[in-house]
Amino acid sequence: MSNSVTAYLLLGGNLGDRAALLRAAQAQLATAAGEIAAASALYETAAWGREDQPAFLNQALAVRTALPAAELLAQCLATERHAGRERLERWGSRTLDVDILLYGDALVDQPGLTVPHPRLAERRFALVPLAEIAPQLRHPRLGLTVAELLARCSDPLPVRPWPGK
Ligand code: ADP
Ligand code: MG
Repeated sequence: MSNSVTAYLLLGGNLGDRAALLRAAQAQLATAAGEIAAASALYETAAWGREDQPAFLNQALAVRTALPAAELLAQCLATERHAGRERLERWGSRTLDVDILLYGDALVDQPGLTVPHPRLAERRFALVPLAEIAPQLRHPRLGLTVAELLARCSDPLPVRPWPGK
């Protein structure tokens, strides 16, 4: 589609059948947001922000979308609701989190939507899967590529390729 944009999303969850929830989310986003142009492997990371909860599985997706950024966010939040997410506490356990990491080269600062995601550069669990599918992608605010951001990231939490299915 000529007026489409490549957006990069990060899926994550630490409750229930994590891999099945990520697969279902990808299928829903392919229908609701646009063609999935790339999908990373699944990575497991200890919970960030609060360490007294189960480990997360994360996956990065590249989506070719014709939706404006705010409508893409609405589809991300609908996908979370479909997975039965309840917002209990900030950074608490959840069945599914869908964040917009990047939306083309756009800089978005609206109530309820900041793109690029403001915590991307400090989260190894987001940079590792994103670097698998888009290492040379340049962060439009920081001016560094994803590979460069990962090399500079001081997040100590290890991010491991997930061996399961
Ligand atoms: P986090 O993803 O940081 O753990 P939440 O998923 O609970 O936190 O995010 C809550 C809100 O963050 C969403 O309802 C949304 O309005 C807002 N938000 C702002 N920027 C973004 C973004 N780039 N991607 C996803 N949500 C965002
Ligand atoms: Mg989120």
